[in-house]
Amino acid sequence: MADRTDLTSYAYRKARARVLADSDVCIVCGHGQADAVDHIQPVSKGGAKTDPDNLAPIHGVNGCPVCLRKCNNEKGDKPLNAVTQLVTSRDWYAGP
Ligand SMILES: [Zn+2]
Ligand SMILES: [Zn+2]
Repeated sequence: MADRTDLTSYAYRKARARVLADSDVCIVCGHGQADAVDHIQPVSKGGAKTDPDNLAPIHGVNGCPVCLRKCNNEKGDKPLNAVTQLVTSRDWYAGP
């Protein structure tokens, strides 16, 4: 796992507060009241850890009050587009 101490650092908390003050619309499910942030470009892939530009609102441990998904859990360490595809993809479907 990534080094947790960095993720709870002052700079990270500050960036997180800034992102959530700006918007609380979850990047995964698109509902409001996100209470956490996640990296758009994963840190493991070279994304900036504490850059607000690389952080987006996401539903954390409490999950989404609307669709009840635990978006941050679902996303994990995957790049954002790997997850949002699941939500927005209407190009393919397993219909008859
Ligand atoms: Zn969500
Ligand atoms: Zn939701």
